[in-house]
Amino acid sequence: MNDNLRAVRGMNDILPGDIALWQHFEATIRDWLASYGYLEMRTPILEHTALFKRAIGEVTDIVEKEMYTFVDELNGESLTLRPEGTASAVRAAVEHNMLFDGGKRLWYQGPMFRHERPQKGRYRQFHQVGVEALGYAGPDMDVEHLLMTARLWKALGLAEFVRLEINTLGGAESRARHRAKLIEYFEAHKEQLDEDAQRRLYSNPLRILDTKNPAMQALVEAAPKLIDELDEAALGHFAAVKQGLESAGIAYTVNPRLVRGLDYYNYTVFEWVTDRLGAQGTVCAGGRYDGLVAQLGGKPAPACGYAMGVERLLALLAETGQNPAGATPDAYLVNVGEAATRFAMTVAETLRDAGLKVVLHCGGGSFKSQMKKADASAARFAVIIGDDEAAAGEASVKPLRGEGAQERVGLAGLATIISKE
Ligand code: ATP
Ligand code: MG
Repeated sequence: MNDNLRAVRGMNDILPGDIALWQHFEATIRDWLASYGYLEMRTPILEHTALFKRAIGEVTDIVEKEMYTFVDELNGESLTLRPEGTASAVRAAVEHNMLFDGGKRLWYQGPMFRHERPQKGRYRQFHQVGVEALGYAGPDMDVEHLLMTARLWKALGLAEFVRLEINTLGGAESRARHRAKLIEYFEAHKEQLDEDAQRRLYSNPLRILDTKNPAMQALVEAAPKLIDELDEAALGHFAAVKQGLESAGIAYTVNPRLVRGLDYYNYTVFEWVTDRLGAQGTVCAGGRYDGLVAQLGGKPAPACGYAMGVERLLALLAETGQNPAGATPDAYLVNVGEAATRFAMTVAETLRDAGLKVVLHCGGGSFKSQMKKADASAARFAVIIGDDEAAAGEASVKPLRGEGAQERVGLAGLATIISKE
């Protein structure tokens, strides 16, 4: 196959063989989000590039090297395929004045795009489910988010495979103090900084702590800690979050190095991590971003949220042996003969009227080859129509799973037999 006619590298097809897992996941999250009163929103996949630069920050991995940005040739606008969902959600909330009557609990799902090196758990088109609570200042909302994620892991059967790491980034003043100390520290160890870190030393030294370079781990480990700079308000908020987790019986560790790769975070940040997926172990991440609504032109409103990586969660489901069975038809309709084929269409529609899932055999073929297809479809029943049955306005029905003899019945009886069990 010509390379240009293949899927773009790092962008996956989701084939019918994989879809049961996706649909199981999607059905679970819908119920779960409804149980917390979150409302779905859908925003465009394309936004103005400026939105992501403003929201995520100029000196971040995403904006510096991961965005799919292009110029719309028709009008010269710079557009970007969304690399994440929070910027768009907040943009929409501001644009439609959604916070005029108070806080909003929102969620979204869909594809995100980042030009990263494709590998297991890291793709160029991947999917996120994101949750945003706009207009909520207190730690009660941070706790709600942590409790709800914990509940989702239970619902998915993943609770024993993930652990929670939390941290607080404090407010603007403590971050400024910490930033000054970090610059001082890294300046003193300049020879140990890699190229990325050198470039970020003055523009975004906090990001150096987020490095994945093994050679810099020791240096980063010993760097000044933000927690030592936090003021009373930040510490109080963090204490309340931890207390909320403790009273709900949710285990966590405080990871002072957890800073997250996006600029908009303050106060609480968290990640749910698994050891079962190798290097790409973060399945869900988020935190508080009290400044973002104002930064995108809205009336100041505190907020927090998180996003999970759907592919990583599905990989974890598969890895831990939780493969849901796909949907199977109730009946496969075998039809041999001209009159039978015409009548079969009516029979199939009648069964669907009764709420049944029916696959009608199309394309002819011998009785034997059609019965093979019926078996392979995993349907519970084969409904068999020959010209004989068609003439009598009846059908033969044969159980394909387990015991039971073939019977010949009228249309009304047919639906009753198939609906049983
Ligand atoms: P990482 O450190 O793995 O690059 P990140 O901090 O860039 O993650 P976020 O922007 O916080 O990721 O996105 C939230 C979640 O989305 C991640 O925890 C992960 O599960 C998922 N995710 C992020 N990037 C990718 C990707 N390229 N492919 C698949 N999933 C991804
Ligand atoms: Mg990343």
